[in-house]
Amino acid sequence: MWISIIKYSTPHVQMVKWLLESTEEIRWSDVKLEKNKAKQTPLKHSAALHEEAKDFCFLASLIPSLQREIMLQNKANPTINKSTGLPRKRFYRARAHSNPLSDSHFPVPLSPSHVDYSLHYPQLFPSSDRSDGSKKIEFADIGCGFGGLLISLSTLFPETLMIGMELRDKVTEYVKERILGLRVANPGQYQNVSVVRTNSMKYIPNYFEKGQLSKMFFLFPDPHFKEKNHRRRVISPHLLDEYAYVLKVGGIIYTITDVEELGEWMKSCLQNHLMFEPLSETELDADPVVKLLSTATEEGQKVARNGGQTFQAVYRRIKPASQENS
Ligand code: SAM
Repeated sequence: MWISIIKYSTPHVQMVKWLLESTEEIRWSDVKLEKNKAKQTPLKHSAALHEEAKDFCFLASLIPSLQREIMLQNKANPTINKSTGLPRKRFYRARAHSNPLSDSHFPVPLSPSHVDYSLHYPQLFPSSDRSDGSKKIEFADIGCGFGGLLISLSTLFPETLMIGMELRDKVTEYVKERILGLRVANPGQYQNVSVVRTNSMKYIPNYFEKGQLSKMFFLFPDPHFKEKNHRRRVISPHLLDEYAYVLKVGGIIYTITDVEELGEWMKSCLQNHLMFEPLSETELDADPVVKLLSTATEEGQKVARNGGQTFQAVYRRIKPASQENS
């Protein structure tokens, strides 16, 4: 399989790299850049990637003048809903679970300063050179699934950069297409939201520096019922140390589940950690994000449809008493 990009520019290249990060079916080395042909050929993309039109759409979405063509292409592309221009979930079927303890083969940035913001937020970061003073990602949705929370947060906090971290490749691909579809349909919006395929249990410090995040979300995480699998849970005393490191003082962790035992587990891990304290009832009522926890994600909507109960724990990162004067 290969993909040829005719008449490309830096944003094209970055966008294609972003797409390829989450798929194992084609590598960056399979991409041929044929810039010289640009002068004779009108903007055209030829691809042998399994869904030609989909990929064309991906590239063309960068160029406003091509948006009409994307719509035309989408009409011929069964993976895209004709009326909304958004991806259809059934074409992104994924295994129910991925093992978070196994080794995977996706690229990982060496450090937070190596995260290429121009791949994720091309309109806000036209080049990969990021001066120290520039904006950083502030919200992380861990195990974002199909991205419902991020999409709601993107318009609620249009000035905040946010990212979803998701382990399953097809699911990540779906979220990417969803974001791109929304960007095309709503020019100027959804530029602050992105997704990355990664294992959050292993690579959080590669993406975020100390005190960078103001919100972290853990919505309906996999329960890993068996005791021997509790070490696969995304909330644990040891992982909370990492989350406390990347959260700023005052930053908030939001968790919710429909599994009572997991709800108890997450709450007790947070309650027993020196660097977290629960939000008061008044604070929970005043926080618009709390209302989204049970309604914005696909998993939450499924639980609501089935009349299931949910268990949430929302905690703030604090400075432990022993560090009060430092
Ligand atoms: N938060 C979403 C929602 O509420 O709809 C998805 C919930 S789903 C039950 C849990 C998601 O976490 C899955 O999509 C799974 O692939 C992802 N996941 C599990 N372990 C992960 C890890 N270590 N790193 C990143 N994502 C992970």
